[in-house]
Parts: sequence; C-alpha cells; structure tokens
Amino acid sequence: MKKHNFYAGPSILPEVTLEKTAEAIKDFAGTGISLMSISHRSKEFVAVMDEAQQLFKDLLNIPKGYSVLFLGGGASTQFAMIPYNLLDKKAAYLNTGAWSTKAIKEAKLFGEVDVVASSEDKNFAYIPKGYTIPEDADYFHITTNNTIYGTETKTDLDVPVPLVADMSSDILSRPVDISKYILIYGGAQKNLAPAGVTFVIIRDDILGKVDRAIPTMLNYKTHIDKGSMFNTPPVFAVFALLQTLRWLKDLGGVEEMHRINEKKAALLYGEIERNTFFKGTANKEDRSLMNVCFVMNDGMEDKEKAFLDLATAKGMVGVKGHRSVGGFRASLYNALPMESVEALVACMKEFEQTSK
Ligand SMILES: *Cc1c(COP(=O)(O)O)cnc(C)c1O
Repeated sequence: MKKHNFYAGPSILPEVTLEKTAEAIKDFAGTGISLMSISHRSKEFVAVMDEAQQLFKDLLNIPKGYSVLFLGGGASTQFAMIPYNLLDKKAAYLNTGAWSTKAIKEAKLFGEVDVVASSEDKNFAYIPKGYTIPEDADYFHITTNNTIYGTETKTDLDVPVPLVADMSSDILSRPVDISKYILIYGGAQKNLAPAGVTFVIIRDDILGKVDRAIPTMLNYKTHIDKGSMFNTPPVFAVFALLQTLRWLKDLGGVEEMHRINEKKAALLYGEIERNTFFKGTANKEDRSLMNVCFVMNDGMEDKEKAFLDLATAKGMVGVKGHRSVGGFRASLYNALPMESVEALVACMKEFEQTSK
C-alpha cells in the first residue's frame, strides 16, 4: 500500500533525492566508489559542496557578505553556538515553544537573556505580538516555525537589533528577506535532507564582537574560512541535500513552493474547520503551513484512537500529535505531495460518515 508520510522530522524527502542518493551509494559521480566511502577532499565531493552552497544562496536570494555553512551537531548545537559567538552582554529571545525554550536555556550560560514575550500561558498556541525588544540587546532570537505546536511567523520581522532565526522546519518553504537577519539556522532533516547536516546562513561581519575564547569547532569563523571543510562534513547528508535543492529549483524555486504549500495547508485547515469531529489547536492567524496540529472536537476525545486506527489503515504514517499537544499533527513539508493531503482529507470525511 502507498504510504503517506506525515512525520515531523526526519521526514519525507522528494523521490528524486532518494533515487539519486541510492544510486550514489553504489557509484558516486562515476567514480566507481560509494558516496559513503569517498574522500570529502575528492574533487567530485568538493563539487557537491560548492554547488549545494551556491544553490542554497540562489534559491533564497542570499545577498553578498553572507556564508552558507553545512555543519554537524543539529540545530540543538546552534542553540549554544549562537550565544557563544554573539552574546556579549545581553540577548533577547521570543519564547514560542519547546525549541525556543531550549535555545533560551543555552543562551543563559553565556550572559543575560531577556525573554521579551512568551505564549506558554496558552500552551504556545499563538505567536506573541506587541512586545518591546531592548535596544541594547546583542541580537533577538526567534523560532519561525514551531514544529510541535503548529504556529509560524510567516513574515520577516522588522526589529531594532540584529535578528537570528531558527528555521529548522520552514526553511525554503517560502521566500525570505535574508537581509533582515544576521543568522538563520536549522537541522536539515525537516525539509531538506536526511538527519546529520545543519545549515547556517551567517552574515560574515557579525563575528569578533565577543571577548571570550571560543573552541575551534564552535567558532563560526573556522567554518566560514574553510567553507564547511575544516573537518569532515556530513558527506552523505550534504549530497542528499543537494538533490533536494536541485528538485526545488526545477520545480520553480521558493515562490512556487510557497504557492503549493499554501494550497496544501488551505485544503487541510479547511477540512478541519468544516468537519465537526475535529478542531485546530493553533490561533488561526499564526497557524503553520508546515505542521498542522488538530484534535478531536469537544466531547469527542474518546474517538481519537479510532481516527488514528483508520488513518493507519489508509497508509497514513506520523499523524499522531506530539505528546505535549496530543491529538494529531500532519507535517506538510515541501516534499509532501498534494495527493497525500487529499488522502488525509478523504480519511477525515470517511471518519465523519462512519462514526455518526
Ligand atoms: C527539530 C527542531 C530542532 C532540533 O533539531 P536537531 O537537529 O534535532 O537538534 C530545533 N528547532 C526546531 C524548530 C525544530 O523543528
């Protein structure tokens, strides 16, 4: 049976990414050697790294003066690396969920942290607005897409201090005005690649403003200077990432991707609103195009398992909500086809018909 993959991460990748990567495991770029065994210094892999960095820049229209890095350690290492490199005295953070909370915890190891607003009072169902950012903050950190709670900041904010964003789960899902940010980062396993590679878009001139000694591997300068080749990069994951970037370019780039993502999300949110058995959990204006969170409607909570069973029987995978929200979560990442959203909607309609 065809599976519909709604996992939140690692998650669905384009078919062509899987095919090209599978081929390269046997024979990488005609070398007769597996992608898993090729030197990262070989000219064939250096070409992969260069093209991946360039395509990332092209697709997001990244201005001159920024570097694109592909590192290990996950977005979670960035939670510490950012304050290590950028927090001199004080940083401002917006708390929009579990990932922001973790980023805040790490930043506190390095200096004063001003949490300017939090939506924890409503289990992170909305994005706070109307807060004041201290002008003397070294930077302001946001999580643009809150993977667990299904909320998203869908525009690029204008703020009075340098802006840093965790875009793990919405990178390349929409056009972004990169010039409004000094640093954007994320684990690539949500929208771009298998686990193992972390992307960082960094404005080169922001470094050198803290006095502390920074370990070599945690210093952005090391990786900028060496083009992400200071140590062995995640060769396999970077190769797969490049295949996804090529797929995205062929499809028409981030504008086209965004148009498709809006259509997919509108279809599912529309059904959640129409179908009396379900209700969304996120504030309407803040809800995510990438992670759609919903629960059984009031008084129908006991039907949750029955719906999950039906979804499973129809080949849906990964629809169970995160334990901190409950209910259901369907992740509609770039590679998820419209057909899978239609299948989920059909499943919700069938559930409505058969469980009256
Ligand atoms: C998944 C996720 C992370 C954690 O990423 P790792 O690569 O596992 O460290 C951080 N932030 C957001 C928004 C995420 O979705």
